[in-house]
Amino acid sequence: MATFYILLGAPGAGKGTQAKNLSAALKLPHISSGEIFRENIAAGTELGKAVNEYISRGDLVPDDITNAMIRERLGREDCAEGAILDGFPRTMAQAQALAHDLHELDSHVSAVLSIDVPEDVLVSRLSGRWMCREKGHVYHDVLNPPCEPGVCDTDGSELYQREDDKPETVAARIQVYLSQTAPLIEHFEELGLLHRVNGDQEIEVVTESLQRAIAERKP
Ligand code: ADP
Ligand code: AMP
Repeated sequence: MATFYILLGAPGAGKGTQAKNLSAALKLPHISSGEIFRENIAAGTELGKAVNEYISRGDLVPDDITNAMIRERLGREDCAEGAILDGFPRTMAQAQALAHDLHELDSHVSAVLSIDVPEDVLVSRLSGRWMCREKGHVYHDVLNPPCEPGVCDTDGSELYQREDDKPETVAARIQVYLSQTAPLIEHFEELGLLHRVNGDQEIEVVTESLQRAIAERKP
């Protein structure tokens, strides 16, 4: 049976960082809705043009656009054994669409991992975040620096700071998280799928906690 894990958490909680570690450990593809949008914006596709303004404002992209994009991604062959979902679902409508799409694939959500981090920590993490252009590897200039400033350790590509990591947009994104995404915590708890992990620890310690939660989940 395929295993689909959802990483839930505020912007800056460490979803992308942890998704990369789990993806390598579990040999499952890492699907980041934000990263797919950014790739489309950089490539100037129709999807990129349609979502650019929402993302620069720190708003969510409308559910119909996001759900269609994820449905297409989940249908690809590399998801046959499952996937690590990072940044999706972010609304109740997306959670319902995901349940429906996985059902069509004869599957379901295996576990939801909520990475909990206090708000002041989120803000300082996002203000120092650097990402690689090639594959979205994540760094922080103080907390998780690359060996050589401005260069990705893994693939040597250039590091950049995200436009939506400026302080005004970060504040808007945290509010959007609290109003639209945080209610999913209760939803997945009711479904018996939720595991909460303290994200305010060393990156490797958080990875171990997530792996423990996955190992302890009910089959
Ligand atoms: P998200 O995908 O949830 O927005 P990221 O994985 O991009 O979060 O992490 C946000 C920032 O915080 C990045 O700069 C990353 O290097 C840093 N970071 C992630 N996890 C930790 C951690 N456990 N301790 C310190 N810094 C972290
Ligand atoms: P992220 O890389 O997860 O921080 O996402 C960056 C931005 O992309 C978000 O602030 C939203 O504007 C948009 N986005 C990413 N995932 C979703 C989603 N599931 N639903 C709506 N918008 C999203």
